[in-house]
Amino acid sequence: MQALKDADGRVGVGFLDDRISRREFLKFCGRIAVLLGLSETFIPQIAEAIEKTVKNRRPSVIWLEFQDCAGNTESFTRANSPSVGQAVLESISLDYHETLMAAAGHRAEKAREIALEENKGKVIVVVEGSIPTKDNGVYCCIGGKTALQIIKEVEPYALVFVAVGTCAAFGGLPKANPNPTGAVAVEDVVRSKPVINVPGCPANPDVLMGILVHYLVFGRLPDLDAQKRPLFAYGKRIHDTCERRPHFDAGQYVLSFDDYGARQGYCLYKVGCKGPETYNICASWRWNLGASWPVKAGHPCLGCSEKDFWDRFTPFYERIPLISGFGVEGRADQWGKVAVGLAGAGIIGHAIYTGLVRKAEKKAEEIAEQEEKQASESSEG
Ligand code: SF4
Repeated sequence: MQALKDADGRVGVGFLDDRISRREFLKFCGRIAVLLGLSETFIPQIAEAIEKTVKNRRPSVIWLEFQDCAGNTESFTRANSPSVGQAVLESISLDYHETLMAAAGHRAEKAREIALEENKGKVIVVVEGSIPTKDNGVYCCIGGKTALQIIKEVEPYALVFVAVGTCAAFGGLPKANPNPTGAVAVEDVVRSKPVINVPGCPANPDVLMGILVHYLVFGRLPDLDAQKRPLFAYGKRIHDTCERRPHFDAGQYVLSFDDYGARQGYCLYKVGCKGPETYNICASWRWNLGASWPVKAGHPCLGCSEKDFWDRFTPFYERIPLISGFGVEGRADQWGKVAVGLAGAGIIGHAIYTGLVRKAEKKAEEIAEQEEKQASESSEG
């Protein structure tokens, strides 16, 4: 465990045993630039912004967990690129996180109070889980306070609320019919501060990293869509970037999970895929350094990053009847017959990202080599 201190002696959270190399760090900056839709020329700027933040005062982050499964915490801490986890976690001061912090009970609550007082108006508040409102919110209490009370207490100190995961962003599973606890989303209770939604079950950790880096580099939040989701990650429909899309267009569908189509990697629409109604970066950016995502592994998209997906998209293994967004509406049975050759766009989504990431990493290598050369020349001089 590595603990780095900033100018004020505040300890950052390093989950890894060793510092990453300069080369790895620059490659991370390259990948984040691609994720944010920036050109590789931004690599030095991103690196400088993160380094400056680590050396100076890290932004204070308070991570609140309410009605959740801690899946987003798991996702965030298991970002499998060492550089991603370390570079970003060391650029923030994670002052309160029940699951990760060593302190417990009143000491933990005190740590939150101190962090709030010391960073008034500048605290990045990450919320995981929905907020129960029924019966005065008694269904989720921490340190004798309801989730609702904690949100209201924290709100004046916050710079922004980041609702991570579908429960915090849209209410998620706790809000599903019949919603026994009166669960609501963060944006339903926060009135005076901006809210950014990062839905997903769990959210992709790289997206959260992207938001933090965007804030460090530009001093502002990324552009959002109508549902307050960052456009760089939620601007495209999964169906339009899915590698199985050519099969959809050709009318080739999996009909059961052990049939010929399943073995051939055919489209999963008829076994319940909600990709045509879901906006997220899963198909193009993927998970675990671009290794895979549920549809690639053979499971239909459940639409987990959409509002009320538990109510709208269940039963999960039955197909949604209509496909929208093509300029025409049609049932999948007919669609395959007319759409052959129209899209083929599926594979391009991930392929483009892969190409851009490789290019950015190559550029990062060049920058690192240049820096090494300059360092060795100046030491010889
Ligand atoms: S329906 Fe699902 S599996 Fe088929 S192309 Fe669309 S996103 Fe991919």
